[in-house]
This record gives sequence, C-alpha cells and structure tokens, in this order.
Amino acid sequence: MKSQRPGIFSRLPFALRRLMNERICDVLEKLGASSERNPIKRHVENLYEELHDAGVKHLRPDVYLGDEWFSPGGIPAIAVPFYLAHTDLKEIEFLLTGSVEGGTPAKMRKLLRHEAGHSFDHGYKIARDMRWRNTFGRAPTIYRPEVYMPDSTSLNHVTHLPDHYAQSHPDEDFAETFAVAITPGLDWETRYAGRRGALGKLYYVQSLIRRHGSQRPREREIVRTYDARRMRMTLARYYDLRLVREARWQRMQSRLIEA
Ligand SMILES: [Zn+2]
Repeated sequence: MKSQRPGIFSRLPFALRRLMNERICDVLEKLGASSERNPIKRHVENLYEELHDAGVKHLRPDVYLGDEWFSPGGIPAIAVPFYLAHTDLKEIEFLLTGSVEGGTPAKMRKLLRHEAGHSFDHGYKIARDMRWRNTFGRAPTIYRPEVYMPDSTSLNHVTHLPDHYAQSHPDEDFAETFAVAITPGLDWETRYAGRRGALGKLYYVQSLIRRHGSQRPREREIVRTYDARRMRMTLARYYDLRLVREARWQRMQSRLIEA
C-alpha cells in the first residue's frame, strides 16, 4: 500500500527511505534486529536483577519487540517498540516523530520498570479489592491513558515517567508507583515524605511485593500480541497510522486542556 503521507518521508536520508516500503518483519530480519542479540537484551537482564533485588524473586516478564511500549492484558510480558532494536530504526523514529521513547539507557530502564509494574499486576492477578480502589481509584470504563488532565501540584502521585503519567489512569498509577518502589538506590520514603498520598501508595505496593514476591507468578500461556517479528505491514504504513492516531490524541488533549 502506498503511503498516504509521502511528503513526510522526504525527511529521511535515501538509505533509510528505502526501508519504508518494506515489511516490518523483513526490515528486522534484514537489520539483524530480531535476534536475541538486539541492544535491548542487556537492559532486560538488568530489569530481572532489579526485580530480584527489590524482593520480586520469581517474576521474569517475557520481553519482546512489539509496535509500542505496553504489557499485554493479563500476561506478564513486556512489548518494547521494535524501533529501539536498531540505530537505523531509531533514526527513522526520531526524524518522523521528533523523539524516541526509551531511546537512552536511562529512559529505557525507567520504561521497563513501569511495564514491569503491569507485569507484576498481571502475573499475580492483583485484586481490585476495596483497598486497591481506595488507593488508586476506580478505573474508568474506557482505557485511554493518552488523553488526561495532569495536575502538576498533585501530592497523591509519584513522578516517574514524564508528563505526570501516573495521573493518566489508575492502572498507570499502579505501574508508576511500582516502578518507583523497585528503582535501585532510590530512597523513596525520603523523596516522597512530603507527598502523603503518593507515600501511601508506595507503602501499599511495598506490601504487595512482600506478599507476592516469593511466590511464582500464575501459569499463563505467553501470547506475544503485536509481535513485530510477525508484522507484515510496511514501515510506511506503520508510520502513517501512528502519526494520524497521535495527532488525534493531541487534538483531544488540547480540547481537554482548553475546556
Ligand atoms: Zn503503562
């Protein structure tokens, strides 16, 4: 399928533009980025160590290349966007979107800790009981963490990922709190001493880690949703869809802030 927005791809140097009409699965194969030797691997090993050191002894989320950052529903797995697996793909991502989410080692590790929070949730099927709901809030029926109204002065949320992301959805709040709780060397009790609401969430997550950390996660078949190695759409199509979707979210966000 021809790109609907051919103009934008002219930003790319010729060598990269040539990749745009190839299928994602083929591009990864060609660049040698689909193998286990991709540059994400060492960060995953690091995450496993961090989890262990934080008291989560048996959770080892299955980390694979997907179309974006996410943890598949109900499964202790983490999808890392495929463009992080090779420098050429990172360059395309930067030239077309203006940034690379997780493009530095520090940001990559922060995102992995966040997704590990969702994996912990899925792996131990953390109950949305009264205490959970009182701590993180009742989830809205529509899961759409891309559009939300952050309060930069909130004392009830941790700050881990940019844009006060903990405020986007109760599940994201949980994942962000978990990420802070397992960050090596972070004295969160001191850092959040003045934020009672956030500190209460951290103590609660700590209690969940104590309760489940020595248990094995429940057995689930790992299904790699949006596995990039199987994605047959071209890179051009992928960026066409993404740029349109993200522009729509931006418009919705602007309307929300103006309202
Ligand atoms: Zn999340």
